[in-house]
Parts: sequence; structure tokens; C-alpha cells
Amino acid sequence: MSEILKPESAGSPAAVEPGRGILFVISSPSGGGKGTLIRRILTHMPRLGYSVSWTTRAPRQGEVDGREYHFVTPEDFMAARKRGEFLEWASVHGNFYATSLKVVERELAAGRDIVLEIDVQGAATLRRIGIEAVSVFIMPPSFEILRRRLTGRQSENSETLALRLQNSRGEVEHYREFDYVVLNDDVDRAATQLASIVYAERARRVRQERLAERVLATFP
Ligand code: ADP
Ligand code: 5GP
Repeated sequence: MSEILKPESAGSPAAVEPGRGILFVISSPSGGGKGTLIRRILTHMPRLGYSVSWTTRAPRQGEVDGREYHFVTPEDFMAARKRGEFLEWASVHGNFYATSLKVVERELAAGRDIVLEIDVQGAATLRRIGIEAVSVFIMPPSFEILRRRLTGRQSENSETLALRLQNSRGEVEHYREFDYVVLNDDVDRAATQLASIVYAERARRVRQERLAERVLATFP
């Protein structure tokens, strides 16, 4: 198993390592727009990867197994969990969701930046176990706009829609634990701001030291 990432209950915080990819954790309440904004930035940032989560939820119309999610049965989910295959997992709006430990570790070790689109509980787990990550909370402009957007998406029946809206306040309260908050008012503006965070984090001095030292070595 990786020395850097350990599943669920692991040990000491990982330091920023030169050459290692950056883990971006992006959360919002359901309908907050994280999927929309992440899809936007992924099309413009070819060097940014996306971690496809596992879920026990049924696929929505148009969702493809292995693209939006790995759709699995609760039994398969629990078996994988027992085998220690998850970096984190959570029960969200009545279904299980999890991040693959192997994929995230492989991408980061190869120096590739990767986005996790996960809920606030998953983000809290990563913080608790000391995973080095940059976290971004996508904030809807208001409850009413969130309700309208989620309803307009037409992905939910009345029961799951009500449950997601009911859970939204508790999720939004967690914005305080994130490094960045992006207001999702206008999609273009919010996507630009999200991309700016990725660019700025890449430019941090601690992540540019190898490059800077190489440049410095060219000076007489
Ligand atoms: P999440 O992935 O957080 O559940 P989505 O990205 O699916 O949310 O967005 C929910 C709905 O709101 C979608 O139908 C999406 O097209 C719409 N939406 C997202 N952002 C905006 C925005 N800034 N303005 C208007 N509609 C938006
Ligand atoms: P949805 O059913 O709308 O696709 O997702 C519901 C919630 O589960 C969203 O907040 C989404 O970010 C979250 N989610 C998706 N994948 C994961 C994951 O791997 N781990 C955790 N903790 N949450 C996830």
C-alpha cells in the first residue's frame, strides 16, 4: 500500500512533495453546480484528471458506467470497502459513494493533478486522516436558486428531491472547513474562478521549487 495515501483511518499528515500531483477536493450541496463547473474546467485543462467514484445509486438517464461513476451493488461496495480499496467513503442521500485509493494514488504519484467531486463528509474524512489536498466549496447563490436548479435538472423523483433539499443546509454549513469558496452565480464566471484556483495552486512556490532550481542553475 502507498506510503502517502492510506485509507480511512490512517496516520500522519502528508507533506507537499515535489513532483507529486495536486489533489483537488470539490464539494457542494446537490444541485450546487459542482458537476457543471468541473466538466467545464476539465475540457479546458487537459492536464487535470478526474477520479470516477464508486456508487450504489442507480444510474441516471445518460450516465455511463465507468464515466460518471462505477455503478455497483451494495454487496460489491462493502466487499471493496473491506478490502481497503477506498480512500474515503460516505453514505449520502441514502446511497453509498467512495473514492478509489489506487487510482488517486497512481495519478498523484505520476505527478498528475486530480479532482475529487465528493460530499462534505468525504472532504472531512480526508482532512481528518491528514491527506494533503486543496478544497473548494461551490456555493449556490441562495436556497431558492438551488431548489430551482435541482428541480430543473429533472434527475430526482419528489422523494429524493425533498431529501437532497432537506440535507442542503447541513452541507452548506460546512463551507467553513474549505480552503476556497466559489459562488456559482454565472457558470462562466464561476468556472473561470475555479480554474484560477487550480492555476494558482500549481504556481505555489513549494510546488515550483524543482523548476525554479533548474532555472537558477542556468545562471552564471
Ligand atoms: P451538482 O453536480 O452540484 O449536483 P449540477 O452541476 O448538476 O450540480 O447543477 C445542477 C443544475 O443546475 C444543472 O441542471 C445545471 O445545468 C444547473 N446549473 C449549474 N450551474 C448553474 C448556473 N451557474 N446557472 C444556471 N444553472 C446552473
Ligand atoms: P449524485 O448522486 O448527485 O451524483 O451525488 C450525490 C453526492 O455524493 C454529491 O455530493 C457527490 O459529490 C457525492 N459523491 C460522489 N462521489 C463521491 C465519493 O466518492 N465520495 C463521497 N464522499 N461523496 C461522493
